[in-house]
Parts: sequence; C-alpha cells; structure tokens
Amino acid sequence: MIACHIEKTFLGRLPHDGDLLEELTKFCVEHEIHLGRVEAIGAVKKARLGYYHQDTRKYAFHEIDEPMEILNLVGNISLKDDQPFVHAHVTLANRHGQAFGGHLAPGTIIFACEAMVQSLRGPSLHRKPDEPTGLPLWEMP
Ligand code: ZN
Repeated sequence: MIACHIEKTFLGRLPHDGDLLEELTKFCVEHEIHLGRVEAIGAVKKARLGYYHQDTRKYAFHEIDEPMEILNLVGNISLKDDQPFVHAHVTLANRHGQAFGGHLAPGTIIFACEAMVQSLRGPSLHRKPDEPTGLPLWEMP
C-alpha cells in the first residue's frame, strides 16, 4: 500500500451518447490525473462488461443491449504505459431490477451519468505485466 492525499475532487456530468470508459479516461488525460479514484451513478443505453477467466487468462466480454441503471461504478486511476489508465467495475440493473456486473469495457454507452473523480497526491502506481495472474497489475514502489 502507498499513502496518498486527496488533491482535488471533481463532480460533474458525462456527455449523453459518450463511451463511459473513454470519457472517464479522457477527463483524466485532460486534467493530468495520474493517481486517483472514480465513482459514478446514472444510466446507460447498453453495456459491455468483462469477466477475466483465471484459468485461460483471457477476458470474455458480455454485451448487454438494453437500457440500464448504473447502480454503482467504482474504480481507480493509475498509469499504464505512462498514460492515465482507469480501471473500473460496475453494477447495472435492467427494467426488472436484475443486476449485472463486471469490468467496465469500451462499448458502454452513456444515457446520463453523474461522476466523481478524485485526484490523489502520492507515489505513482504503474501497471506492469504480472506473471502469476497474467494481468497488468500495480508494481509496488
Ligand atoms: Zn477489472
């Protein structure tokens, strides 16, 4: 674990029809946020969620082509290949209140989204290939 301090908290709306993960990443790039946390609620037109198969070490993606509520989006911001990288997980609910969840992937389209991004001050966290998991995980300083 590293110790960090809250530098700034941003609160705002993401654009209708934007790609949820790309909009969050774009915001971090524009504001030079290299370390931070993100959370959001709202609604999406459709979603694409990842599930990492630990045995094959590959992501499978589920496309859910229907309007849903964003019950919860939580994630962090660190560096991958020296660029801000958002890693987020979401829980979504359909019109029947059934929930779906997973690793947020490009292809999740915003209907409305209220997001909070918090930039943190502290040592940089860089994602590097991790042998035991096959995932790009944080290299601990
Ligand atoms: Zn994930």
